[in-house]
Amino acid sequence: MMKYEYQASRVKDDARGRWQRVLSDLAPALQDAVAKRGKHVPCPVHGGRDGFRVFPDVSETGGGVCNTCGYFVDGFSLLMWINGWDFGQTIREVAQQLAGAPTSSVPWSTSPGVDRSGSPDDTTRREQLNRTWRESLPLTHREAEPARLYLARRGLAARVPEALRFHPDLGYYADQRLVGRYPAILAQVTGQGGDAVTLHRTYLTVDGQKAPVDAPKKLMRHPTAKQLTGGAIRLVEPGSRLAVTEGIETALAVIEATGLPTWATGNAHLLETFVPPPGVRQVLVFADKDRPSRQHPSGHGQEAARGLVTRLWAMGIRAGAIAPGLDIPDGSKGVDWLDVFNRLGPAGFPALGSVDTLLTRAA
Ligand SMILES: [Zn+2]
Repeated sequence: MMKYEYQASRVKDDARGRWQRVLSDLAPALQDAVAKRGKHVPCPVHGGRDGFRVFPDVSETGGGVCNTCGYFVDGFSLLMWINGWDFGQTIREVAQQLAGAPTSSVPWSTSPGVDRSGSPDDTTRREQLNRTWRESLPLTHREAEPARLYLARRGLAARVPEALRFHPDLGYYADQRLVGRYPAILAQVTGQGGDAVTLHRTYLTVDGQKAPVDAPKKLMRHPTAKQLTGGAIRLVEPGSRLAVTEGIETALAVIEATGLPTWATGNAHLLETFVPPPGVRQVLVFADKDRPSRQHPSGHGQEAARGLVTRLWAMGIRAGAIAPGLDIPDGSKGVDWLDVFNRLGPAGFPALGSVDTLLTRAA
């Protein structure tokens, strides 16, 4: 349940003139009918050959009619019918869509046959991913204050990529049991080819702290047919030169300090296996500096970065890695470039000229 109530009459006013987009986003099965408005198409619910059409003025009313299923005077009744929603949920979904729902609300295809390897469990996972994404809001939305507070506390107030989204009330589960609901920052993790694989979640409190849970940052379960390996969180458009980090906030610090297009991979393992998209000719790894451990004698972050650089050179991509010069404070597991940014500002980062030097040397 969302924490706020929507006024039906206001949502109705807001939706006028925007129903084509609202219907296509909230009920993808209507996309064909919306695209051919006024013309007959197969009914999205009962099938058939050409029993269904949306009204020619669908943009204003949102309504449509099926010769078999019935007459739907407006977009609300149409959505209730096709999605099986009650009126309250329909108002909420439309209000959220109008408030700045993502440009595509179904990044995970649910069409049968598109992905034959998908199991029934995969279908559930896709639906959960789509629903979570559809419920998200831009970080500029008035409800997204917890996210803005959190980033400000981390020293990252300046520029926030649109790739980051906000969920006002996301369930936190442990052992498949609901532990609580929290505001959260969401980011799509895309596969090597740019397809949506899963969502990265950062659970927060309403006043912008990390949520008091065991793992405030975690990935949603992804459909088994999807490959996480090689993927990344594509925060901004890449240039021919791309910077990569483990953490999202570290990436934001690199963007803010250097202006380099920067992607996060989410963790050390994904950093090590990252594959840049075609067109990227240089990769600069802003490595975490982790305390050496038995398993990782040179530090996990440093080893992952070195592994990536070595692989990239073998692929013909110029690459280099830099770790923070700061010492690891007592009691800390490591330092990253967000720490550098907060302690030294952009002056703590390498000048772009020295980046070029770095990229001409093999790891
Ligand atoms: Zn029908």
